[in-house]
Amino acid sequence: MVQKIDTLFINANVLCMDDDFTQYENGAVAVVDDHIHAVGSTEDLEKLYKPAEVIDCAGKVLMPGLVNAHAHVPMNLLRGLGDDLRLDVWLLGYIMPVEREYVNPEFVHLGTSLACAELIRSGVTSFADMYYFEDQVAEATAEAGLRAVCCQTILKFPSPDASSYEEALAASEKMIKKWKNHPLITPAVAPHAPYTSTVDILNSATALALKYDVPLHIHIAETAQEVEDSLEVNEMPVVPYVEQFNVFDAKVIAAHCVHIDEREMHTLEKYGVGVAHNPTSNLKLSSGIAKINRMLDLGLNVGIGTDGVSSNNDLDMFEEIRLAALLAKGSSGDPTVVPARKAVEMATSMGAKVIHLGEQTGSIEIGKKADLILVNIDTLHNSPHYRNDENSIYAQLVYAAKSTDVTDLMVNGKWLMRSRELLTIDLDKLLPKAQALAEEIDKFLVERFQSVYSKLIAVGGAEEQESYEVQVKVKVEDPEEVIQKLKDSDLEIQYFRHYHEYDTYFKFEDPEEGWLRYREDEFIDEKGEIENIRYRLTLIGPQRERRFSQDVLLSRSRFIAPAPQSLRFYREYFKPTDETYIEKDRRRWKVCFRDIEFYINVDRLDEPALGSFLEVKSRTWSLEDAEKKAQVADDLLHLLGSEPQENELQDYVQIIEAKS
Ligand SMILES: [Zn+2]
Repeated sequence: MVQKIDTLFINANVLCMDDDFTQYENGAVAVVDDHIHAVGSTEDLEKLYKPAEVIDCAGKVLMPGLVNAHAHVPMNLLRGLGDDLRLDVWLLGYIMPVEREYVNPEFVHLGTSLACAELIRSGVTSFADMYYFEDQVAEATAEAGLRAVCCQTILKFPSPDASSYEEALAASEKMIKKWKNHPLITPAVAPHAPYTSTVDILNSATALALKYDVPLHIHIAETAQEVEDSLEVNEMPVVPYVEQFNVFDAKVIAAHCVHIDEREMHTLEKYGVGVAHNPTSNLKLSSGIAKINRMLDLGLNVGIGTDGVSSNNDLDMFEEIRLAALLAKGSSGDPTVVPARKAVEMATSMGAKVIHLGEQTGSIEIGKKADLILVNIDTLHNSPHYRNDENSIYAQLVYAAKSTDVTDLMVNGKWLMRSRELLTIDLDKLLPKAQALAEEIDKFLVERFQSVYSKLIAVGGAEEQESYEVQVKVKVEDPEEVIQKLKDSDLEIQYFRHYHEYDTYFKFEDPEEGWLRYREDEFIDEKGEIENIRYRLTLIGPQRERRFSQDVLLSRSRFIAPAPQSLRFYREYFKPTDETYIEKDRRRWKVCFRDIEFYINVDRLDEPALGSFLEVKSRTWSLEDAEKKAQVADDLLHLLGSEPQENELQDYVQIIEAKS
């Protein structure tokens, strides 16, 4: 008897991507409800079934939909925001300040819908995501009809959707409970990376993944710096560090793995960790080239991902597949590694295993979900083609075909695209919204980047408080004489400190911006050894505000911020037009003189070698107060045996000017 089915694909070049890499040159696939019911020749299947719909696939490849193994889909709204920058400058200087301001459930929903449209157009039927408000990623993905592993991000610092990691963990559990057993969405948890997690986060996220038997998505060894830091802080590379918290007992999706050694590869293989390789992102951010041919040799499952569009800048999986194959060849010097069939496998059946959906999708096999695409291989750039080698069809897909050749796409037995027309997403509605948001963010960034001051605030941590400083500085021939005078006086000394200071002054085109000083402060203990190092940024106002007498100056606008990033980071972020370097040895006393707190600094300038200086200064918040303090400062200078002098080098301002 002829059996009724929903859809019969006929006359297709079927690539099953099963373990035997079965192909049918004039093949057919029968779909019932959400799954694949039969695979065979057109002749055989036409006799067996009475389909509600027949799809003639002449001139096309019918294959499993592609698997994007690592993405941050809502970031589609941030496409092109901050390109050609180093990872830290891009992330901390651009992406994170914008995310803090704009990422909310609506943002995530809109970005996800747009990403789904782009994924469908490039032949993707499943993806693994990691972002904030992941519940909205799941909502928008389910509406679009795509299959996804949606992983809620957990960070050790506040994020757009959680003020603490406990909150993010609670949100993860809530989302997992809500979406567990959904036909398209697999909810999961994502401790962002070992270096952005605490031990507590790694433990709790693992416990959550194991409790609900859901995947755990994490970035591993993306940059060489991450490994260097791990060796320094944890005294071991990234993979063994993570292993000790039993993280790999969960179903792990490890993104990047660019800088892992042979032993670490063995560890990942032992635990069945899926590796998501992101060739474009790794190239664009200069992270390095993952050794995927070695991983594949060792039996690891390696999938291919786009990462977020802001480090790509698109979600074109055909580009990623081609690049994965080419990069492996170019970097190993061996054109036989990662052959085309392997590259297609990584983007389909193996990719599905990487995101732990291998049981459901990734190949055309009876019982698997009907996640299928049709690729037109009759276009100009695909012609002519040879078929004497059974692998030539894979080579055609990897080296010649383009994502625009994907004509039709089905997920879970439902059409999401026919003849390149999207059936579940209305782009005319979404695109104007995205552009309006981009223009708003543009305005925000222009405002934030209009001055050194607002850039300092944007990068975080600056105290938005202004203070003035009364200061007098004179050159001294014998600093020990001054120190002796200080000790002999009856000044009340509150404390003494000894520092070695390395200052880099950034200067800008507009002198009104003032200078930004990056200071490395080494505290020297009584034995003369370095006790502690502090890094700080100080924005110093443009000019001396006022000169009270010939020698007392009032400087203004000192904004102080901790400087957790490297000097290189700040140089690339603030883009100064000029720099001056000063190195000095500083002995500092905090004293009370006529009820006013003063700092007395005895400095020896080592770079440039300009000798010793005595500086007396006091903080002040009003001009009236400053006037009074200026007089007292003069008297204090006299007490220490120094005469105020109109000296060309009487303050560092002039030293810096003179030097550059
Ligand atoms: Zn990523």
